[in-house]
Amino acid sequence: MRFFTSLLLLCSLTILAQNQTKYDTNFEKGNGNQSATYQETIAYFQLLAKDFKTIQMKTMGLTDSGEPLHLVTFNPDTTFEFESIHKNKAVLLINNGIHAGEPDGIDASMQFFRDLALGKIKAPKNTVIVCIPVYNIGGALNRNNATRANQNGPEEYGFRGNARNYDLNRDFIKSDTRNTKSFVEIFHLTNPDVFIDNHVSNGSDYQYKLTYIMTEPSKLGTVLGSYLKTEMMPSLVSDLKKKKIETTPYVNTFHETPDQGFAQFMDSPRYTTGYTSLFNSIGFVVETHMLKKYSDRVKVTYEFMKSTLEFTDSNAFAIKQKRKENEAQFQPNQSYTLQWEVDKSVQEPFTFLGYEAGYKKSDATTGQRLYYDRTKPFKKEVPFFSQYKSVKDITIPKAYVIPRGFWHVIDLLKSNGIDCQTIQKDTLIEVESYRIVDYKTPTSAYEGHYNHRNTVVKTTTKKLAFAKGDYIIPTQQKGIKYILETLEPEAVDSFFNWNFFDPILQQKEGYSDYVFEDTAAQLLNDNPKLKSELEAKKQTEPDFLNNPKAQLDWIYKQSVYYEKAHLQYPVYRIIN
Ligand SMILES: [Zn+2]
Repeated sequence: MRFFTSLLLLCSLTILAQNQTKYDTNFEKGNGNQSATYQETIAYFQLLAKDFKTIQMKTMGLTDSGEPLHLVTFNPDTTFEFESIHKNKAVLLINNGIHAGEPDGIDASMQFFRDLALGKIKAPKNTVIVCIPVYNIGGALNRNNATRANQNGPEEYGFRGNARNYDLNRDFIKSDTRNTKSFVEIFHLTNPDVFIDNHVSNGSDYQYKLTYIMTEPSKLGTVLGSYLKTEMMPSLVSDLKKKKIETTPYVNTFHETPDQGFAQFMDSPRYTTGYTSLFNSIGFVVETHMLKKYSDRVKVTYEFMKSTLEFTDSNAFAIKQKRKENEAQFQPNQSYTLQWEVDKSVQEPFTFLGYEAGYKKSDATTGQRLYYDRTKPFKKEVPFFSQYKSVKDITIPKAYVIPRGFWHVIDLLKSNGIDCQTIQKDTLIEVESYRIVDYKTPTSAYEGHYNHRNTVVKTTTKKLAFAKGDYIIPTQQKGIKYILETLEPEAVDSFFNWNFFDPILQQKEGYSDYVFEDTAAQLLNDNPKLKSELEAKKQTEPDFLNNPKAQLDWIYKQSVYYEKAHLQYPVYRIIN
């Protein structure tokens, strides 16, 4: 009997040992400084999906590389239909390799799903875990060992740009890439309660292996934002501390070194968590520190995901409830903040684990250079600016009206789950209308665009004719924040700022001075009010007085000959 028990034990151990070998990841098989290739990563998840009925893997949408994205789901209940999952479980979505040179999350997620499948991590009761193993596939296929010039391993990694050299972590609103279009589909299918995007940091040196960005709480909304800031984040930080992992908010410094303070990062909607926040998902960006050993970085990424899963699982129903309450706070006639800035009047003391910094003569250039002295670690209070304040509010309209010609905007709204209703017959509607009165455009390209900033509009109310087939976008729907952030031109990542409406910035018709001179004179003769306005402008603006061409153009722009479409923003607001 004893012999039989021993034999059984031996057999079990052998099976366990075989299992461990079979499911070792490429990272574990190496010396801790190797990251799995794209092909190895996919093959590994295929193996897990084949061997464990708790894991499903499927392809979902193309990327610019020509390869499809994969979606891996772990559910101990073995159901993988999200419609039924959403009824009684929370969803944690993990995105890896958006910057393919920062592969920590790719290797950590392989171990994470394996450990969930093998029961090494206790199976969550209330949470389903979903992961995009490699998001920037084009970047991952463009493997090299140099482009992360400052990064301490792994030996090989992918490139930041995707197959068309886009930074995918700036593309969530403009949606230039197939990767984004596919992500949007995955995001709305999985509708994650909590989202993690895994990265590696650049920037200053300090003791931390793990830094994090929580999506900006005020922008997320008062209900979820305060829950994230006062309950979830402190709980994650303290759980990681128990595992001897010290953490800091992402070191977003004002000056060259962190000693003089740093601020919470503002993740506008062009970024992953800025985008996911628009749909009331709690988002985190993990930023491991580039100068730490690769094996340590993979480990802390793994532990961040594990702590987040545990918190989400214990609080799944509270989070789901708070998401609903958060969504309900955005209502027509209430104000909504389009632009934020750091509130420097509110400092939160933060005990920072850094290294003393100094300057010395450069051996490479003629200048002085910054250096950090790792033999002089410090623990000191530095100012942390954790709050943002509004610098531009608008009133939420009841709906927007978009003429059907702007189908590219309608398509994007629809792909983001926005209900776009069509007008059934030609109708006069009282609307608020915007004219673009100012904007700045850079002279060099940014992410495939010459995107605008500092946009200013002037509002007027008028009755306009809309045609059958034009679109009404009610704001009382799930994607209200997406609607506001894209359709309000003054929002940082509005469609206007991303060049969707640039044709309105160019005047299509004009005049020849020698012909219009006679018309202008007649206009002034026929319209004494116009004439006195012109005189007043000449009196108060010396430049204008000395510029006959400008005077003629001014008269033209006050006349019926000047086209209405120039600088007229073609999306209108319905207030009542
Ligand atoms: Zn990154």
